Amino acid sequence: MRWTCNCGDVELAVEPGDGTRLVCYCTSCQDFANRFGGGDSLDAAGGTDLFQTAPETVKIVKGQSNLSWIKLTPKGPHRWHTTCCDTPMANTLGTRAIPFTTVLAHNIDDKAALGPIVARVNRASATQNIDGEHGSMGKVIRPLLWRMLRSRLSGRYKQSPFFASDGTLIAKGVTVHD
Ligand SMILES: [Zn+2]
Ligand SMILES: [Zn+2]
Repeated sequence: MRWTCNCGDVELAVEPGDGTRLVCYCTSCQDFANRFGGGDSLDAAGGTDLFQTAPETVKIVKGQSNLSWIKLTPKGPHRWHTTCCDTPMANTLGTRAIPFTTVLAHNIDDKAALGPIVARVNRASATQNIDGEHGSMGKVIRPLLWRMLRSRLSGRYKQSPFFASDGTLIAKGVTVHD
């Protein structure tokens, strides 16, 4: 699958088949989407379509120099976006030692390959009622823990495209919380 920013300068290759698709309605995800891309990546209820996967299954194909991140809350992730066209892209933690990687599905070309949405989380801050199946956090947490363990034991967490070989973040960013 390809993730492409709105102007086309940044491209990621994302392997399908090994991730979890979920929608998050939390206010931080909404804040991120509103700051970058004017909220275009949000669904009608303020949800962000997310694909959680292993860091080693994501590659930056081009445009690495057009990446930056923002950290909105003390406990929140590093939220990656492009600087060419302000497209929200991915969430990681500040250290590759905890291999958490989520790509925003909005700009992924083949959404069918992401699989079904298994959970809709933080629904209390959705901007309208959400119909249908809500899934459960367990369907997100269990595969997440399994992927993180596998990435750690195999050493492949070091292949995260968001960290240099020495473990430092590949781009500068800003922290807007105290
Ligand atoms: Zn762009
Ligand atoms: Zn969220």
